[in-house]
Amino acid sequence: MAVAACQEVRSACPYCGTGCGVLLRPDGAGGLAVRGDPEHPANRGRLCSKGLALGETLGLEGRLLAPQVNGQETDWDSALDLVAARFRQAVEQHGPDSVGFYLSGQMLTEDYYVANKLMKGFLGSANIDTNSRLCMASTVAGHKRAFGTDTVPGTYEDLEEADLIVLAGSNLAWCHPVLYQRILAAREARGTRLVVIDPRRTASCDQADMHLKLRAGSDAALFNRLLAALYEGGALDAEYLQHVEGLGAALEAAFAADAAVTGLEEAEIAAFCDLWMRTEKVVTIFSQGVNQSTSGADKVNAILNCHLAAGRIGKLGCGPFSVTGQPNAMGGREVGGLANMLACHMDLENSSHRAAVQEFWGAPAMPERAGLKAVDLFRAAGEGRLKALWIIHTNPAVTMPEADAVSAAIKACDFTVVSDVTAATDTARLADVLLPAAAWAEKDGTVTNSDRTISRQRAVLPPPGQARADWDILADAGRRMGWGAAFDYQSPAQIFREHAALSGLAGSFGLDFDISGLSSLSDSDYEGLAPVRWPVSRKRQGGRFFADGRFFHPDGKARMLPVRWRPPAAAQDRRYPFRLNTGRIRDQWHTMTRTGKAPRLSGHLAEPFADIHPEDARRLGVQPADLLRLSSPHGQAILRARITADVQPGDLFVPIHWTGETAPSARIDTLVAAATDPVSGQPESKGAVVAAERWQAAWYGFAVSCRPMAPRTEYWAVARTGAGYRAELAGLAPLADLEAIARDLFALPEAEAQVMTDRRKGIARLALHQDGKVMAALFTAPEPVAVRRDYLAGVPGSSAAEVLTGIPAAGRPDPGPVVCACFSVGANTILHAIESGGLMSVADVGAALQAGTNCGSCRPDIAELLSRRPFRQAAE
Ligand code: SF4
Repeated sequence: MAVAACQEVRSACPYCGTGCGVLLRPDGAGGLAVRGDPEHPANRGRLCSKGLALGETLGLEGRLLAPQVNGQETDWDSALDLVAARFRQAVEQHGPDSVGFYLSGQMLTEDYYVANKLMKGFLGSANIDTNSRLCMASTVAGHKRAFGTDTVPGTYEDLEEADLIVLAGSNLAWCHPVLYQRILAAREARGTRLVVIDPRRTASCDQADMHLKLRAGSDAALFNRLLAALYEGGALDAEYLQHVEGLGAALEAAFAADAAVTGLEEAEIAAFCDLWMRTEKVVTIFSQGVNQSTSGADKVNAILNCHLAAGRIGKLGCGPFSVTGQPNAMGGREVGGLANMLACHMDLENSSHRAAVQEFWGAPAMPERAGLKAVDLFRAAGEGRLKALWIIHTNPAVTMPEADAVSAAIKACDFTVVSDVTAATDTARLADVLLPAAAWAEKDGTVTNSDRTISRQRAVLPPPGQARADWDILADAGRRMGWGAAFDYQSPAQIFREHAALSGLAGSFGLDFDISGLSSLSDSDYEGLAPVRWPVSRKRQGGRFFADGRFFHPDGKARMLPVRWRPPAAAQDRRYPFRLNTGRIRDQWHTMTRTGKAPRLSGHLAEPFADIHPEDARRLGVQPADLLRLSSPHGQAILRARITADVQPGDLFVPIHWTGETAPSARIDTLVAAATDPVSGQPESKGAVVAAERWQAAWYGFAVSCRPMAPRTEYWAVARTGAGYRAELAGLAPLADLEAIARDLFALPEAEAQVMTDRRKGIARLALHQDGKVMAALFTAPEPVAVRRDYLAGVPGSSAAEVLTGIPAAGRPDPGPVVCACFSVGANTILHAIESGGLMSVADVGAALQAGTNCGSCRPDIAELLSRRPFRQAAE
């Protein structure tokens, strides 16, 4: 549904699990003005840099506009008839477990619901998993073991009411910036203490009272120690423990634990335990650093044990709090869109639950056991056991561990369908059938954020070409497979009502997820639905879980589990001496298919990198800006070295975002082993072992262009700029003909070349001009090129005569690398303002330049610039 220009529409940000509300105003020309929704309870008007830049990610460039079969455009009837026939054929010939769906936490609840119903109820398999498996499956497993259901007990209000916030394996400042700012505002108002538990110093440590820089993977040992300290310090809550089973065994395991494996000083651990014990209102926020581990579920239970034992759960300002990475990971969990769930928190292995859902759906066949979780699903594809696979809105050829093997598996699968907004992904290139899906601003439905708040996402732009909503594509496929009545959906509202009604069954079994109070919404009620936190049953709306000590195990009690620390699955050895940590950066999202389009989001960190400790760099002979080659038994990568004590000796940190489209040598999951948690099936994305060495190229280059580039060198990384594109390059073969290479790179055969070389230093510079404008420029050297990149990034399309000097002429501004992406303020601009304006604080900089006044994620960087004395221009 298109919305008239100038009309402002409430919707939800499609990135992290904070679930911020946005107000969208179409401009009538395909664009949108975006601002935070002041009435949304998650963000109250705030947005981070990614949310603010949503309007810059909408262009039709790269959009998939028509179905394709084997690379040829076709119509929907032909494509979906083929999909339906191949899935039915696979089930008939090889059984239901020969087919699989791999979904995404980006999908809306209504999309997820139809996919789950089609696979579990009608195709008859539980082979439906999602990229949420890589994100928070360990939390689901931990919740279910402790509470009996996958219940997130906390709300965002708890973050503001707590006196102590513990961030365990969560760089909240970058990954959930609006929540982090809510905590900082509360800290300002009430002095909330902040503890960060992370092997790496992150932006979240900037304001922390305590940073416990523990060894990777040792969280369970630390929380076991806390549990023992709670017992020794008389801090157990005897009254609340009447609602909990398993204290004795959990304590026995806790006392048997050796906290030395954390690598922390005894005094640090004691200070943490003391602070936790002395503080009544404690919230422990945990995220991927806890989940992405072969002992992720145990780490979660080690945290839950402490909150249960101390009765710090079910009360305002208290509780364990999992924050999800994706906008609708929670919605996916609610519909049951994981291989080991049924629907609405009902259990696949529970025959009563299964029979009730089967009857509700009128389903011919229901699986009785869990399907293949993500890693096993792609293994099955590679081994020929999966005959038909449908991948929706995700890019497993980049994001799955052992990504090269996953690419080969997708390629080997007899029949692969990919639904996406673009054909330009590593996964889409491998598909037999490509289906054009509607994008975020074109889709109608609901999402659930980390604190169980359901928000409406509303379509404000018409889908381009033949793109369609995912629920519509899946339902159409279901009808073509022969189940017309079950998939006769006309709108997302109809699907939501069915989902809400089904949840009433869960409620009747005494489970937590019950939104049956929303099952009678009219279409217009659904259209106007305001954010609402579940449960919303006829008996109960909202409220706090576990305040009454009632849990969802059959006996109504919670469970504490004995947790024993286990090291990461892969052991470091002489061949692979480094532990690889992976994660997100501030301004990018997943594989950058959207955020990569916004120039200001690429201005902060424009190139993939590996953080390495100074001692390790020295030992390997690595200098700043050198390239590093990382290798593991599963693959290799080349990345720019960043030498920093933020990581520990022996550790490396690498971001996850780069792909075959943007930096083929930086597909970091090619290095990561597909080792999984035995309970949750979540891969250990933060514990791979790798070797590292300096990678010496014959030449290094930096290029800018107003048009897309086509690099063919061993190392390249491309990013968008306001004027076009920028690229880092390096090659092993000596540079022969610079002009020929440049013309090939830039595809500008008509442009006039201007060349400058210094044979003694081996430096060469070339600019291509057309109609008095610089169209592109290439700078090469035998060492990493030293030029003012941020200035040069703005040169294409201008008449800058001095381009070959690589530095701006006098009077021409060079903003420096982007620091504040919300307001596009560069480091040099800030340094100049500090120096010339006598600015003394982050607040002064904000007042002068706006920098740091929106999402606040860049405030640590501004503080670092303020600390520089004497001032100098920021070099890259
Ligand atoms: S914190 Fe940022 S990315 Fe996350 S939902 Fe809010 S605006 Fe979107």
